[in-house]
Order: sequence, then C-alpha cells, then structure tokens
Amino acid sequence: MRLLVVEDDKDLNRQLVTALQNAGYAVDAAFDGEEGHFLGDTEPYDAIVLDLGLPRLDGVSVLEKWRRAGRRTPVLILTARDRWSDKVQGFDAGADDYVTKPFHMEEILARLRALVRRAAGHATSEFQVGPVLLDTRSSKVVVDGNPVKLTSHEYRLLAYLMHHQGRVVSRSELVEHLYDQDFDRDSNTIEVFIGRLRKKLGVDIIETVRGLGYLVGEIRPEPGKAKR
Ligand code: CA
Repeated sequence: MRLLVVEDDKDLNRQLVTALQNAGYAVDAAFDGEEGHFLGDTEPYDAIVLDLGLPRLDGVSVLEKWRRAGRRTPVLILTARDRWSDKVQGFDAGADDYVTKPFHMEEILARLRALVRRAAGHATSEFQVGPVLLDTRSSKVVVDGNPVKLTSHEYRLLAYLMHHQGRVVSRSELVEHLYDQDFDRDSNTIEVFIGRLRKKLGVDIIETVRGLGYLVGEIRPEPGKAKR
C-alpha cells in the first residue's frame, strides 16, 4: 500500500511519514497544496492524509480539484480542533474521514487501515486466504497459526495482494503501489519478491497468471459487472 502525506508542518510531516513507514506503507510526502495536488493527481495512492491549512493551495481546494477530476482515492483530512466548519467543508469537498490536531498516531493508523480496506471492499482488519492470515493491525502474518517473518517489502506485497484477492494484479500495478516516488523501481524485482514470499509462506496461495500478473484467492467478478 502506498500513501501520500500532505502537511506543511515539517516536523509533523516527518512524524507521520515515519510512523506510516513503520506500519508497512510506502509513503510520499508533500509540503504545500500545489505539490500535494500534483502528486495526488498523478500517482495511484491507496489513501491520502491531507492537512487543510496549507500554503499555495488550501486543503479543501486540493480535495475539490481531485474529486472534480474523478480521483476517488480515500482521503483523511487533518483539521484544527474546534473548527467544526472545517470538517463540514472537508466532507462536502469529498473527504472520507477526519482527525483533529493534536492527534494520537494510533488513531491515524487505525483510520487509514479502515479507509484502505473499505476501498478494497473489506470490512475487517484481518485477511485470510487458505491457511494464511494477515493482520493489518500488527502487520503480522501467520500460516496455520505459525508466525512468518517477512521484510517490509514482502509484507507490503502480500498485503496488497490480499487486499485485492480475487483479482489479477499486474506487475506494474504492484510496482506503483509498493514503492514510494524515490525508490528505484524495477518490475523485475517483483518476481524475486514473489519467489521469496512463496518460499517463506511455504504454501502456494499466489498464482502466477501468465502475461497478466498475480492472483490470490478465487477470481471474483469485477464490481459493477456482477450478476443482477
Ligand atoms: Ca498546516
């Protein structure tokens, strides 16, 4: 999963980025509204943390521009305490959730987990495929009850596939959602990570779909193409 943090307070931005990285996300940072808008408009994030009080372009305007352009990425806004009108404006502009400052990092993490899994069509924070159980709260994976130690890249890869189980995910989609902007991206490394993941899990829940990508779980009909 890849996230964007748009926050002009440098310390707070750094704290958010560090906490999110430690929680297993790839994270990009923007420090003003224009930069944030550009990144959110051009990169496929799984969720965005957006401060409302931003230089160059305020957060509500950023959000309105994304929504007008059809960007449906889940957005969590950060608002000042006691500014209820900010929340109203934010929701009207298309925000999915909010947290007031000052906040506890755990709350941001929990709300982002909820936004990401809801966007992928899941109701709980645990994902199970066959004997493999992935808990997004602890970033832990167990197979048949036995914990499996994964690197952050391996975890991110498995978490993305399990959030999107039932759908074939292409290698380029994985690259876009697993690495931050500054990472030296190479879609060939995905294959290497998949190989390691299969070995560590010891069970083959990741199917290679030739020429298309990877599949976890049973194929599900695309939303909207479901039978009536
Ligand atoms: Ca601010």
